[in-house]
Amino acid sequence: MTDTDNVSPLNPELDTAFYRTLLESTKAIPWMIDWKTLQFTYIGPQIEELLGWSADSWVSVEDWATRMHPDDRDWAVDYCVSQSKAGTDHEADYRALTKDGKYLWIRDVIHVIRDESGEVTSLVGFMFDISERKKIEDKLFDLQKELEDLSFKDGLTGVANRRMFDSVIEVEWTNARRSQQPLSMILFDIDYFKQYNDLYGHIKGDDCLKKVARVLSQAATRSRDFFARYGGEEFILILPETDAESARKVAERCRSLIFKEQIPHDNSETSKVLTISQGLGTIVPGHSDSIKGFIHQVDQRLYRAKQQGRNCMVGAG
Ligand code: GH3
Ligand code: MG
Ligand code: MG
Repeated sequence: MTDTDNVSPLNPELDTAFYRTLLESTKAIPWMIDWKTLQFTYIGPQIEELLGWSADSWVSVEDWATRMHPDDRDWAVDYCVSQSKAGTDHEADYRALTKDGKYLWIRDVIHVIRDESGEVTSLVGFMFDISERKKIEDKLFDLQKELEDLSFKDGLTGVANRRMFDSVIEVEWTNARRSQQPLSMILFDIDYFKQYNDLYGHIKGDDCLKKVARVLSQAATRSRDFFARYGGEEFILILPETDAESARKVAERCRSLIFKEQIPHDNSETSKVLTISQGLGTIVPGHSDSIKGFIHQVDQRLYRAKQQGRNCMVGAG
């Protein structure tokens, strides 16, 4: 087989028209640069529709570089020049300046053409408008971020959720074990909440949970104090570097803040307003202690508060 076998049998004039149509009707914008002079020898007329600059205003690589976002210019020019010098085909994404002062994301795909001796003679490339793709990528990135935020937030009350609690308690437990400072925890459970729902309905029940979350989350004020929804109508507070006496004061504040709200609860057996029961624990974690064991202890105390008639707290002793 010889080279001539590959020549198109078509009329050469038809060929030219055919290639021109192909080049100038495609969405990708073709261009050619002479490597010696760094001048454009060709750029598709579609460039004007995309960026506003007419094809004949693209004279040299300078025009290409100056019509680029200043933040992209240095790396894009350096990268394209070094790849071209090395004779390597490459591609670059950058923001191109439009004639009316906006920027569009462009992907430039560049082929390096060499002569028989291997010398680079020209660059042939295609510019693709990737603005839409970039917009979608940015949106996906934002959504991903939002999802990460949401995945640590309780959907109903807006406070941290159980998952976040699990992460925070790990960190605070390790801190407390290292520093040998007391770590306190308060577990809250609304009294007779099933009856609340039964009497007022689930929507009012949800509103009530939101209110309780808002009120309790204001009770602890140190920057590392952490409040979360632990389960249905259960909430939890982590109080780092807090001894039992201080934790008791916070618990008392929680009780009185809820009482101040005077949320009617005509179905409660302890009071005419909504009340909470609390289990308290304080620990300086040693090597034989575990997070699970500590939470279990606090949960047991909450259970005892319920048994003792509710609307009260049970701590150590
Ligand atoms: P106790 O005083 O012993 O804690 O009684 P209780 O009725 O509060 O306890 P129980 O655990 O039997 O019931 C908890 C109720 O909380 C049952 C459930 O319907 C309600 N609950 C849990 N999550 C939600 C929620 O997201 N919205 C509403 N409206 N109710 C919830
Ligand atoms: Mg409960
Ligand atoms: Mg309850």
